[in-house]
Amino acid sequence: MSVQYSSEEPVPAPPLVWENAGFWEGAKSHQLLFQRCKECGTWVHPPRPACPKCRSFEKEWSPSSGKGVVHSFVTYRESPHPAFKAPYSVVLVEMEEGVRLISNMVDTAPDDISIGMTVEVVFDDIAEGLTLPKFRKVG
Ligand code: ZN
Repeated sequence: MSVQYSSEEPVPAPPLVWENAGFWEGAKSHQLLFQRCKECGTWVHPPRPACPKCRSFEKEWSPSSGKGVVHSFVTYRESPHPAFKAPYSVVLVEMEEGVRLISNMVDTAPDDISIGMTVEVVFDDIAEGLTLPKFRKVG
């Protein structure tokens, strides 16, 4: 089970700005990329101009392992937007790199999600030019 989208209502797209363009371009080609500081190696997400550790502006887009654990989650029993059909869950995944990513689960019913669950990224091409990194249970 994953998020069901309404065919009548367009899915709200994430705003594309220069800071996050690498993340969304990576998703389109089914790669999970996070910013990484070229000075100190710190992984950075959400994207931002300066490294939170050393304040360097020198960053590059680096591939994630795509693996992590569910740090927290919430299940919507009523839809907050007509494009999304409830129930569905929003998960906060702590990636192996230490950054956290908010997304949805695929092939996992809301009642089967648990904190600490090991997950891996999958890519959902939900619309022309829009791919969302999502997660599935491992094991
Ligand atoms: Zn740094």
